[in-house]
Amino acid sequence: MSISIQIAKIKEQLPEKAKLIAVSKTHPTSKVLEAYETGQRAFGENRVQELNEKYEHLPKDILWHQIGHLQKNKVKYIAPFVHLIHTVDSENLLSVINKEGGKNNRIINCLVQIHIAEEEAKFGFSYAEAEKFFNSFHEQDYPYVQICGLMGMATNTNDTDKVRNEFKRLNKFFQKLKSTKFEANSNFTEISMGMSFDYKIAVEEGSTMVRIGSSIFGTR
Ligand SMILES: *Cc1c(COP(=O)(O)O)cnc(C)c1O
Repeated sequence: MSISIQIAKIKEQLPEKAKLIAVSKTHPTSKVLEAYETGQRAFGENRVQELNEKYEHLPKDILWHQIGHLQKNKVKYIAPFVHLIHTVDSENLLSVINKEGGKNNRIINCLVQIHIAEEEAKFGFSYAEAEKFFNSFHEQDYPYVQICGLMGMATNTNDTDKVRNEFKRLNKFFQKLKSTKFEANSNFTEISMGMSFDYKIAVEEGSTMVRIGSSIFGTR
């Protein structure tokens, strides 16, 4: 099935407030352009080098999302242009992003990644760590960072109740932060959750950004 048909089909199923991030990792720029031609502008990559190469070769009005684990020493390569970093998983990383934002004289949008799945290999703060982090977090310490919300990846399982509960809990934590820590911040709006296999559940549970790769571009 063609990329444009797949994008149209997915968009049909998304509520208005849920944005589609087309995850183009491992796929060539020709495929990104095919999606671009349908009007798609938000693309996600998980490797910094690939993100840079695609940024160089593709139209400059694309909004690039870093969705993979980000090493501190690589932040400088994406700081000049990245639209949103979904994967802030330590205070140190946030400090480096702030510093690189300053060097580039731009505010870098970030999501804090929460480890919501059972699997051990996934990155992100545990809820307990996130509570601690946000308790001591002061926005004024990071003038070149905008925290726009949270990101999480559910367990890769056929147990849809389990997936739903993981998304529910992330939304609940988001709402709590929104009504306390970020009460005065109108930019704290995003919950990035949902991939090809679970995005329908994610939007039912309040996702505002779905990150979809294989359902658009085919298997990797
Ligand atoms: C690859 C990836 C996706 C997209 O996964 P698909 O199953 O291809 O839709 C979403 N989020 C992250 C963090 C990814 O690394």
